[in-house]
Amino acid sequence: MDGVPAPLRCFNERHSAEMFVDDGVETVTSVEQKKVEQSIEEVVSVYKQIHSLPQPTLLREQHYLYLKKGLRHLSDAYECLDASRPWLCFWILHSLELLEEHIPAVVASEVCQFLARCQSPTGGFAGGPGQHAHLAPTYAAVNALCIIGTEEAYNVIDREKLLDFLWSVKQPDGSFVMHVGGEVDVSCQNWEGGLSGVPGLEAHGGYTFCGTAALVILGKEHMLDLKALLRWVISRQMRFEGGFQGRCNKLVDGCYSFWQAGLLPLLHRALFKEGESELSRQRWMFEQQALQEYILLCCQNPTGGLLDKPGKSRDFYHTCYCLSGLSIAQHFGNTDLHHEMILGMEENRLAPTHPVYNICPEKVARALQFFLRLPVPGGSKQPEASAEDRQSDPAADNDATATGSADQS
Ligand SMILES: [Zn+2]
Repeated sequence: MDGVPAPLRCFNERHSAEMFVDDGVETVTSVEQKKVEQSIEEVVSVYKQIHSLPQPTLLREQHYLYLKKGLRHLSDAYECLDASRPWLCFWILHSLELLEEHIPAVVASEVCQFLARCQSPTGGFAGGPGQHAHLAPTYAAVNALCIIGTEEAYNVIDREKLLDFLWSVKQPDGSFVMHVGGEVDVSCQNWEGGLSGVPGLEAHGGYTFCGTAALVILGKEHMLDLKALLRWVISRQMRFEGGFQGRCNKLVDGCYSFWQAGLLPLLHRALFKEGESELSRQRWMFEQQALQEYILLCCQNPTGGLLDKPGKSRDFYHTCYCLSGLSIAQHFGNTDLHHEMILGMEENRLAPTHPVYNICPEKVARALQFFLRLPVPGGSKQPEASAEDRQSDPAADNDATATGSADQS
């Protein structure tokens, strides 16, 4: 940045030409879409009136205080997330690391002890102490422990039993159910180009990110139709709003700033591996500035925390994924080839996030260094055909993924 604020895209007089046109056919969806655009137009016009020099600001201090409080105390509104408590640990800890806020050793240790109580005696992590193991909180707990990154944190994970749990939810068709007796989650790319939960359903940002990231970990991203996926995901960035929608014909939502924009680093790297020669060495294949404008102008609660869209309330989930998406939009490349595009003041800069695991790249490297020294637990329940792959591949692939922390260029 040279000190002169970049002109905002949403201040441009041609911006309103990007608004939705219903071609005279009004539907429930088109009415909702217009309402959202109107609310965003109001936010932008108020911002214009107050700021002659457009310098959108990340409300760091407010977000920090909101997150710090959440680690110790949650309001009654969070009762419905009683089966997602490791998620709350991850959302808050990851938001704090993106803001480069230190987590005191005592607090980190308390989080480790809490997550240990969420671990099921039969392996895997549950949504809370005494509940059944489930894949989603297992992912959140492992990520949270890796963010803490101490030996105490790593040692919470009972890897042998975790492997038993993973085999217990693996299905003959290659998919996984979320828990014993639960539903299948993420198994296919469909005609739209994105991925859906099960064959025949519509493509969705969350499934698409998780499925694609899983294939990157396995080194099998070439099995996807990458160009179709690229076309699908970039079409999910909203013309007027600048943020992303999760599915075709849905409304913009701050959390897809990560689930959708996070696909672009994965795709950049996958296409690079396939020998694609036209890839930029400076930017991802989406409007990075437009996304930053949406997050900074429309998704911040003035008293801390981020949200879905104007008029919605803040929560830790949206705080985590708005900040994660903002980080992706600010940083291109990896440690070797890095290009920053920070909208607004330099203080808006967040730490980079690892595009596969969505924790900071140093934390991924440190966790891999620790776990790769340990033997792979010798589970006896692996299906014959894949036992060999499972035991030899992940380490090598993970290593490549981490050290190349995305060789996305
Ligand atoms: Zn959302």
